[in-house]
Amino acid sequence: MLRGIVLKDKNIIILSIIFLLLIIFIYIFYLNFIISDLKNDLKSKENLYSIQINNRIDEILELSEQIKELHRIMDVGLVLNSNDKIVFNNKIDENSLNNLFKIIPNGFPLIDVQVSSRFGERIHPISNIEKFHSGLDLKTKIGNNVYSTASGVVYKVRNEDNGGYGKFVTILHAFGFTTLYAHLDEVLVKEGDFVDKNSVIATSGNTGISTGPHLHYEIKFLEKHLNPIDFIYWNKKSFNSIFMNNSNIEWKNLINKF
Ligand SMILES: [Zn+2]
Repeated sequence: MLRGIVLKDKNIIILSIIFLLLIIFIYIFYLNFIISDLKNDLKSKENLYSIQINNRIDEILELSEQIKELHRIMDVGLVLNSNDKIVFNNKIDENSLNNLFKIIPNGFPLIDVQVSSRFGERIHPISNIEKFHSGLDLKTKIGNNVYSTASGVVYKVRNEDNGGYGKFVTILHAFGFTTLYAHLDEVLVKEGDFVDKNSVIATSGNTGISTGPHLHYEIKFLEKHLNPIDFIYWNKKSFNSIFMNNSNIEWKNLINKF
């Protein structure tokens, strides 16, 4: 009887040990599983971070290239302004700036401006063929004043509505810049006239090949077309904006004239 009880206890102890070992085994297996999951998670995070770091390095390298380019263009020191933006540390006084903005095209050729077609490659609205658009189309009404965007001399006038640009005016400005104003209704200047910045040179219209009243406005430097939008929004506050976008112009030499 007594022996029977001892044997029973022994069995219970052995069973308990087996059960305990089983639980330990399952627990180790479970831990292993969790650790390998964590490892995978860490690895994928590591990959993600390394991609992000590489992207950042690329951005920094690109920025440093741009800074070098700006240095090359301006050949002057660059400073960080209060908004941490890199600006040209120019030495131009207020008076010289005013003179500069009188003779280099800037600002709006119309009072109310709404861009209806941008500069660059586009599908032509009439021919439906992709073609380089050499200017900027500004939506307007017939008969609004068109202003010269810098002082200069009227170089070419066409006063007949015979296709293409219709009636147009081109103005020759200082230092190799020219502007063109096309699809006009009425031309108010003649070739050889000297005009000031903001002189009324014409009224807007719908002459030539045009789908509706608008002003086609172009800016060229030494016969090369520039994006007029850079110049339309160029003013004393945004003085530095022009240098990066139009790096083919030797701005440094030009600014030194003022
Ligand atoms: Zn146009």
